[in-house]
Amino acid sequence: VTAEEARGEALERCRGGRGLRVGLGGAGGLAEALGRVLRARVQAAAPVPAFRAAIKDGFAVIAADPPGLPRRVVGASRAGPPMPGLRVGPGEAAYITTGAPVPEGADAVVMVENCSREAGGAPFGRGAAVPGAGEHVHLVGPAGQEIRPGQEIREVGSDVGAGEVVLERGERLGPAEVGLLATVGAQSVDVSRRPLVAVLSTGDEVVDGFSGVEPGLGQIRDANRPMLLAAASAAGADILDLGIAGDEEGSLEKAFAAAASAGADVLLTSGGVSMGDKDLLKGTLERLGRIHYGKVLMKPGKPLTFATLPREAAEGPPDELLVFGLPGNPVSSAVTFYLVVLPCLRALAGWREPELRRVDAVLEEELRLDPARPEFHRAVLRWAPGEGAAGGTFLASSTGGQISSRLLSMRSANALLTLPQRAGSLPAGAVVPALLIGDVAGMPQAPGTPTSR
Ligand code: AMP
Ligand code: MG
Repeated sequence: VTAEEARGEALERCRGGRGLRVGLGGAGGLAEALGRVLRARVQAAAPVPAFRAAIKDGFAVIAADPPGLPRRVVGASRAGPPMPGLRVGPGEAAYITTGAPVPEGADAVVMVENCSREAGGAPFGRGAAVPGAGEHVHLVGPAGQEIRPGQEIREVGSDVGAGEVVLERGERLGPAEVGLLATVGAQSVDVSRRPLVAVLSTGDEVVDGFSGVEPGLGQIRDANRPMLLAAASAAGADILDLGIAGDEEGSLEKAFAAAASAGADVLLTSGGVSMGDKDLLKGTLERLGRIHYGKVLMKPGKPLTFATLPREAAEGPPDELLVFGLPGNPVSSAVTFYLVVLPCLRALAGWREPELRRVDAVLEEELRLDPARPEFHRAVLRWAPGEGAAGGTFLASSTGGQISSRLLSMRSANALLTLPQRAGSLPAGAVVPALLIGDVAGMPQAPGTPTSR
């Protein structure tokens, strides 16, 4: 199968995870909600603001009062509970602060910078003592300025109307969405569950780099398990560390059982999936479940295997554990994670568009092609701004040697360039599709890029 077919076939089995209700109170509630996908739309029960509120610090007045005449101050409305009985009549004004309720009778606010104590006097500065009840205030304005009814006032419902949909089903909760939930007074939300991803390394040569034991001759530190646990966690999944399985009969079965009994949705293994006599994964999967594919036309990542293992569910009908047998070489493991596993984790988490995003990128250097397989070449994209109307473009530079054991080729990579299967090479300047695997916000900046500074 092609990489695209491999992804499609796995995605078909990742439809809509279950949901749960998450309470929003406290810091724990927020952390629980962030990144999840909504399973029900959220509407505002009441308008925001719920009262007419001042946009500026100043004086609440009646716009139609004759200009030029001083207004008699009748009190103050400061942000918070309103002053009982405060009312602005003809010829009157009330001091008001930003966000405070506009007193009854007033229909405009004049900012304090346009007011003074005496006719023609200097406008009030920040923190200046303003006239109190019984005193007078003069509106100095910029000369000739008319007071418009409604000026500097947020009307009831002008930010969010009563009944307005503020979040749709299927939207993912980021910081602004959490703020909206808080604004409309939501106490809890219906969201998608996070998939539980179990991660297992395999191989007699693989040792836990955090055990304090130095690898002996022929041994290597386990790179894949920490990397894949991190990748799954970064994808918003819950993670379960299953350690390292040796290359002996029976050790894989034990790990599968541990994943299933922990309620994992997905098991990621690495290694043991190629052609060696100790590559036991495929045989074991075949015996216990069903292999959907075991070889993918891609470089790196050819041995990528996808299987399902049936199991009795704690509740409801029997379900299946999705098993991705990722190749042992760390780069192959990472690339197949991004291309196939990540979209699946997103789908399980309720994403509607779980695929990697694609942009066109211009090669900064010549790249050799592989006549045997399409290649996913690790690259760093940066945005080169265009001149005038010419528009900008993404420039792609290779991360260097692409051998699948060299994890340095994944370092800082924010894109996989999809190179065609063919002889020869692509010249510098060629345009290739690039799959984004990093956050564009962290992209290196081209020299001379205008910033928000
Ligand atoms: P295998 O598919 O098990 O033959 O592994 C292919 C290559 O990947 C071998 O060189 C392994 O030593 C290496 N490898 C397997 N698992 C890991 C791991 N967890 N971390 C780093 N390298 C690994
Ligand atoms: Mg192995």
